[in-house]
Amino acid sequence: MRIDLHTHSSHSDGTQSPAEVMQSAAEAGLSVVALTDHDVSTGWAEADQAAAALGVSLVPGIEVSCAHYGISVHVLAYLLDPHAPELLAELSRSREHRLGRMREMVRRMAADGFPIRYEDVVAQARDGATLGRPHLADALVAAGCFPDRQAAFDDVVHSRSPYYVAHYAPHPTLAVQLILAAGGVPVMAHPLAAARGHTVGDDVIGDMVDAGLVGLEVDHRDHDGPARQHVRELCRRWGLLETGSSDYHGTGKPNLLGENTTKPEVLAQIVELGTGSAPLGAPLPS
Ligand code: AMP
Ligand code: FE
Ligand code: FE
Ligand code: ZN
Repeated sequence: MRIDLHTHSSHSDGTQSPAEVMQSAAEAGLSVVALTDHDVSTGWAEADQAAAALGVSLVPGIEVSCAHYGISVHVLAYLLDPHAPELLAELSRSREHRLGRMREMVRRMAADGFPIRYEDVVAQARDGATLGRPHLADALVAAGCFPDRQAAFDDVVHSRSPYYVAHYAPHPTLAVQLILAAGGVPVMAHPLAAARGHTVGDDVIGDMVDAGLVGLEVDHRDHDGPARQHVRELCRRWGLLETGSSDYHGTGKPNLLGENTTKPEVLAQIVELGTGSAPLGAPLPS
């Protein structure tokens, strides 16, 4: 049983529709896949239909953008109630703030001579998608400034760039509490992904654990050997579930479906704990 618990579609910064992600998951030989778009659940219904037809089981999820004093933290939420009012309010607030933040990033870049407008960034995103820096990178590629999304990130879109602007996002312990209140299962995504910018210390992760964090994403391409070892050690210390996943973004990133996977017994515990919504797609393999 191959299980990949972290993927993105065009409802956030992936390049494929939810149905296409499910098709690619089937082709990659996955039996279970989670769709975890940044801050939205709008892709679940389409993914559900496609997954059912393809014989793939779908774990509905969201990757919640959080911020700890300016450091970006991502918390995966599985099997949550997508209508839980308090979580929904936080997600809406941070999605809303992403728009003004993007206007400011574009303003700074245009003032420095980059030939882009806010509308060009919006044109890179599906209507209603969570607008993020990957769309800015894509707009810079479309304008001929960079050969691909990664090159744009490496040069000017990264979080230490002078053009970088943060947006409102909930504190990670608040996010954990709201995910639990929504019946969801909170798992911190790529805790030590240093290539993306600053990461939080073990003390902050400890606070999230005290708030009810259930697991840590150990096996992720942005973790090198020592990082995986350290995150695994934290899981043992605090009795947390260890997950592994691809963080697939279609052609937007080199990450391949199933390049890291989660053990069936870990999935079973996540399914047991999640009470906000049921697994979708084909019935879970036993
Ligand atoms: P945002 O939430 O708008 O700040 O953008 C964050 C998203 O950008 C992440 O979810 C990744 O998909 C992508 N990302 C962040 N840092 C990098 C990086 N250094 N290289 C490539 N993609 C990145
Ligand atoms: Fe992303
Ligand atoms: Fe992430
Ligand atoms: Zn992700």
